[in-house]
Amino acid sequence: MRYKLLAALNLRFLILLLALTASLSALISGFYSTYQVQKEQLMSYTLRSNYAYASKLASTTDNFLESAMQQIAYSAKIIEKKIEDDNLLNDEVIRLNLQTNSFNSVVINKGGIVVATSPELPELINQPLSSPGALQAMHEKRPLISDPYMSASGNLIIFISHPLFNTKNEYLGYIGGSLYLNERNILNDLLEQHYYQGGTYIYVIDVNKRILYHPDPKYIGLYTGDNSMLSNVIAGNAGTSETTNRNGDRILAGFAPVTRAKWRVVVQRPVKATLASLDLLIVEVIKRTLPLAIVTFILIGFFAHFISRPLKQLADRVNTLDDPASIEKLKNVKSWYFESQRLKLAMLKGVNILQMQIGQLRHDAETDPLTNTHNRRSLNGLLNQLVVKKTPFALLEIDIDFFKRVNDTFGHDVGDETLKSLTNIIKKLSRKDDIVARIGGEEFVLVLPNESSESALKIAERLRMTVESTNIKTIGFITISIGIATWPKHSNDIGQVYKCADKALYHAKEHGRNRCVVAQDS
Ligand code: GH3
Ligand code: MG
Ligand code: MG
Repeated sequence: MRYKLLAALNLRFLILLLALTASLSALISGFYSTYQVQKEQLMSYTLRSNYAYASKLASTTDNFLESAMQQIAYSAKIIEKKIEDDNLLNDEVIRLNLQTNSFNSVVINKGGIVVATSPELPELINQPLSSPGALQAMHEKRPLISDPYMSASGNLIIFISHPLFNTKNEYLGYIGGSLYLNERNILNDLLEQHYYQGGTYIYVIDVNKRILYHPDPKYIGLYTGDNSMLSNVIAGNAGTSETTNRNGDRILAGFAPVTRAKWRVVVQRPVKATLASLDLLIVEVIKRTLPLAIVTFILIGFFAHFISRPLKQLADRVNTLDDPASIEKLKNVKSWYFESQRLKLAMLKGVNILQMQIGQLRHDAETDPLTNTHNRRSLNGLLNQLVVKKTPFALLEIDIDFFKRVNDTFGHDVGDETLKSLTNIIKKLSRKDDIVARIGGEEFVLVLPNESSESALKIAERLRMTVESTNIKTIGFITISIGIATWPKHSNDIGQVYKCADKALYHAKEHGRNRCVVAQDS
């Protein structure tokens, strides 16, 4: 379980993880900072443009009021001179109402009573006017824009008036025009041109926070709530503000005062509407970035694969370094970059040393150090192989006669040399597939594959005679005795074959040495 977990945490996965984390965080922080920068720019742009709108509308409204006052003043000039001419008065109110399009209604008041109206309202003629606008005009006797007030018929009205004086400068009355703020008029038209572009809307209030203009007419005449921005607006300042409206929405507002009347123009746009386009922009950016990002990720995947492959292959070989084929496998690893090349070379070097040492150890474990022939362990292994392969063989057990004497006479070292000389003789006479082993002090075994007792006896005799006739340095001549047994003829069991050969050797010694004896058939 732990190994599986560790194997899953491989280099390729880690490189991928690293690259993905790095590029994702770069992408996300890129998107985030783009979003933030764009957001700040959009918000400040919206604030500035709302402010510009508000200023423009305030000055447009100012201009309108100015020109309305001038129109009233011009009419006043005309009728002052002919105040008695009722026809003229009527013509003038009609002209002012219909020609200029500035007023919803026009009225002339002379001596406290109405003398002409447009549109025609006979019921008002000769009546005094008691509306706040009319009273204010009579009271102040100067060019005037009244405060907004609610008329008897429920219209929110402003009244623009000009006093009338005769040549002796006596006050005669006034001429005034009404603007019904919640009905269609030129002021509405002016403001409405800009109404509601991308969530932006405009409203106009007076200093009492009464709404004079609103895109939704049902708000006209109502009072706005209170907030920090509004007190700034009411104070007559021009500027911008980020605030919360009565619905709890964040809004971006620009505001400016109308100087002719004490009105305030506010242009505002919800933050949500402002940023909606930004969300779309970011989605668009993501959409366009995504294909490239996917291609990049795939490329990273390939890189991760190619970078990790040599190391993975090297790691996979670690478990089989004792296998002689591992050298070839290691050589086949495509280590295309520096570290992997170094690792590969180091592993190859290590494997070579390891295998040399293993070879040496195996050789040591299987070899008799004095004669460099097989030892008993190795011999057993080889015999087992013959048995497995069902190769019949003859086993010759060779023992030097009276070897003790050699040692006693010439010393142990010369005895050792003698053992080596005998080994050379045996090796010289043996064939490629024969096995020469030293299994005890001065006892040797010669295994002859595929030889019968008879042919083995001949070979043994030849060996015996060769030894007998070979002059060995220092000691001269020695003789050997040989016991012969065969597998599987004498026994199917190797141990028994040994014993048979032993017996035969004993027999040879018993019968005078320097002879070869084949074990008796059992
Ligand atoms: P036999 O004819 O009955 O075999 O007489 P032998 O003297 O050879 O008797 P035995 O086989 O009992 O004696 C073996 C002697 O071989 C005993 C020991 O001195 C000697 N020997 C055993 N191993 C070594 C060895 O590694 N080197 C030397 N130099 N001598 C050894
Ligand atoms: Mg012996
Ligand atoms: Mg002996």
